[in-house]
Amino acid sequence: MMIPYGRQDVTKKDIENVKKVLESDFLTQGPVVPKFEKAVSDYVGSKYGVAANSATSALHIACLALGVSEGDMVWTSANTFVASSNCALYCGSKIDFIDINNSTLNICIDNLEEKLKKAEINNTLPKVVIVVHLAGRSAEMREISILSKKYDFKIIEDASHAIGGSYLGNKIGSCKYSDITVFSFHPVKIITSGEGGMALTNDRSLAESMLLFRSHGITRNEEQMSQQSHGQWFYEQKLLGFNYRMTDIHAALGLSQLERCDEYVSIRNQLASIYNYKLDRSFFNLPYETSDSYSSYHLYIIRLKLDRIKKTHKEVFNYMRDKGVLVNLHYIPVYFHAYYKKLGFKKGHCPNAEKYYSEAMSIPIFPALSGKDQLKVINFLSESVI
Ligand SMILES: *Cc1c(COP(=O)(O)O)cnc(C)c1O
Repeated sequence: MMIPYGRQDVTKKDIENVKKVLESDFLTQGPVVPKFEKAVSDYVGSKYGVAANSATSALHIACLALGVSEGDMVWTSANTFVASSNCALYCGSKIDFIDINNSTLNICIDNLEEKLKKAEINNTLPKVVIVVHLAGRSAEMREISILSKKYDFKIIEDASHAIGGSYLGNKIGSCKYSDITVFSFHPVKIITSGEGGMALTNDRSLAESMLLFRSHGITRNEEQMSQQSHGQWFYEQKLLGFNYRMTDIHAALGLSQLERCDEYVSIRNQLASIYNYKLDRSFFNLPYETSDSYSSYHLYIIRLKLDRIKKTHKEVFNYMRDKGVLVNLHYIPVYFHAYYKKLGFKKGHCPNAEKYYSEAMSIPIFPALSGKDQLKVINFLSESVI
């Protein structure tokens, strides 16, 4: 019996809701996608939601709507999934990485500020900073937002891990401190639509622009057309967009799951508090918690205190996998990947992210994780280090 690090939870009601769409008139471009968009934006407290077929697509149209193009510079965290960085490269821009803070594991504010000061002198300031809320814990958005005004950059929150979490009393996704926030609904994330993502914003023109980019650059709204409509059949392509649409089938699953988002996050926090209580802090660094931030606990990441453990990182990892606990590692520093090496990034670029990579491990956390299985994970971990 394998215990994965994460797993979706699909109920009979979810299946019923998807089935209704399959029996309806519209499998795509029907009423369920707008309903899902409104439900998510109401849930997080933002004005607009633009659904897409993945968070990766949503990040791409978010960059495009903010005008990222050739010659621009985008920055993101060194410790993230490649999609947070690839979305900038799709737009032809340059990318650079900000090192993480050793406690929060998110973008380090001091490193960011120092890098901004240097970039101002060299005239290489970023147009957009893509902030990642690792494991579902918000980065320090208030501080980043203050820097964005001083150095004139836009902010995208890659909140792929973080729906259901909150920061300073606001749900993540409210965009209080950012221009756009992106969620992922991949099955391993908090709630799922199969594949899917959504971009949230409070800015109407950004929402309209993302809608265009999502759907071939085409509008059917006469007010947005630059030429006279030829008749009822007419639509106008205004720019070069993509087909990044979410289907109504996927939206029905997402909408059905959204009802349980708070419950899921609450269960994840309960599981986390059991790990916090039971895991031996003399061998493991546990997640950093502060009162300003309520994590969605998409991931529970421990870091091995290798100077106190007789085993190597790899040995502990292999031990857990051999016992059927499918631990994982989030993430390989983005610039360690072959593609990014070719772009010229070198080892040593973000030392904290590299050290983190040498000791981190994601252990199982998901709503259906039983108490019995969680205890197994805890016991195997204790054994693994001796
Ligand atoms: C999962 C994930 C993505 C990509 O999400 P998809 O919906 O699979 O495209 C992007 N960024 C981060 C941080 C993620 O974890």
